Amino acid sequence: MASYYVNTNAQPNGDHEVHKDGCAWMPSETSRRYLGEYQTCAPAVAEAKKQYASADGCIHCSPSCHTR
Ligand SMILES: [Zn+2]
Repeated sequence: MASYYVNTNAQPNGDHEVHKDGCAWMPSETSRRYLGEYQTCAPAVAEAKKQYASADGCIHCSPSCHTR
């Protein structure tokens, strides 16, 4: 299991990126929200989508959930 976080600031394309704990691209503490502990990025992104209209996995730590 790993801790996942969502960036509270949207990317230029409107997506809120989801990161796994330890990612070098993790947003600062003031710019992220804890999503929970998950085996994979898929349920973490699903949780992020409950909070934001658009969310996507970080290409660096969650490439399998990076769709655009
Ligand atoms: Zn990341």
